[in-house]
Amino acid sequence: AAVIPRAGRVPIALTIAGSDSGGGAGIQADLKTFQELGVFGTSAITGLTAQNSVGVHGIWPAPVSSVEAQIEAVLSDIGTDAVKTGMLCSVEIVKLTARLLRKYRSSHIVVDPVTLSKHGSALLEGDAVSAMCTELLPLAELVTPNIPEACLLLGWQESDIRSVSAMTEAARSLLQYGPRHVLLKGGHLDDQAANETAIDVLVSQEDPSRHLLFSAPRIATVHTHGTGCTTASAITAFLALGMQMEEAVGSAKRFTHQAISSAVPLGAGIGSLWHAA
Ligand code: PLP
Repeated sequence: AAVIPRAGRVPIALTIAGSDSGGGAGIQADLKTFQELGVFGTSAITGLTAQNSVGVHGIWPAPVSSVEAQIEAVLSDIGTDAVKTGMLCSVEIVKLTARLLRKYRSSHIVVDPVTLSKHGSALLEGDAVSAMCTELLPLAELVTPNIPEACLLLGWQESDIRSVSAMTEAARSLLQYGPRHVLLKGGHLDDQAANETAIDVLVSQEDPSRHLLFSAPRIATVHTHGTGCTTASAITAFLALGMQMEEAVGSAKRFTHQAISSAVPLGAGIGSLWHAA
């Protein structure tokens, strides 16, 4: 992807997310993506996971005071052009993140509403979902749920979203929580028409009646660990570089498609995206 140079200084992006020891998702995916796209990455680690290609073997939320100190340290001194949030673990960390992003008037906030890993481990406590809707989503320029996450945020059943038109309706419903844009990712869509393409839907507050579809040929691979983190952090990087939302989403979709194409079978289970430019 083309990097837009900005006069004077390097664009900066902050990721507020969890650590994946396996290097494929979370903070590690975010920082690798920022680096690939020419953005200086900073981080606040919300929790640790002991994780590999086979599964999530342990999750330890970080002390809330340590998350606060990390975000304060970065934003009070270095500042940022864009922010991505990922695994936030608990209601306390969701609320703290929202408070500090308000305090520093951060812009270009991309919320990846991470709830479950592909292996089925809970990465967000159940009672944190409503805090995410009421505290964090109103601040978001973009929220990037997949279908299971959208259903959790809306209180819908996964069987309610079986088509691109149902995805569009769900994306529009998510605008009620106040994000400026919603990107609903259709990778989980179990639909005949979607079998050969992976379709994502973008809707915006500016004109909710309009929706944009982003599609890419579906790649037959199980090695998709970190896909969601990579998409959200690529969008964040492109926003930090000064792109408009539609262009940032399209560029991130192409970047992630390329990363999935070159995904590697690390370990015995689900391999990770390899972030090759
Ligand atoms: N681990 C961490 C720390 C994450 O943030 C995420 C997703 O955002 C995952 C694991 C899940 O990755 P996947 O579902 O792609 O395996």
